[in-house]
Amino acid sequence: MELILVASKNLHPKEFIGKLRIRGNEITEVIFEPNIRYKFNTSSIFFHMNPIDPSIKGCVHSHPDGEIKPTIEDLNIFFFGKANIIVIPPYSFSSVACYTREGKKLPLIIYRD
Ligand SMILES: [Zn+2]
Repeated sequence: MELILVASKNLHPKEFIGKLRIRGNEITEVIFEPNIRYKFNTSSIFFHMNPIDPSIKGCVHSHPDGEIKPTIEDLNIFFFGKANIIVIPPYSFSSVACYTREGKKLPLIIYRD
């Protein structure tokens, strides 16, 4: 989660985007794609250019505008799999929310060392 927050903060005001590897109910890895286009409000990820990986079951992206809720585009196009995380400024552990692909909020427990 620290990696997500730092990456989102460093890209602000552009939108951070990444994919999530999920095993069981645990997010085990954040995957950065080499071909992501980070933009203002509309970062793009090209799923069709990647090998099929059934362990990729979610995504994470930032909303630099500070809106913690999913947009219509998130629900119609972007959200998939088991968990979809949105992070907002100030990119702290309390500015994170997790949703199903249908937009229902999920509990998110962050384990810290
Ligand atoms: Zn969004």
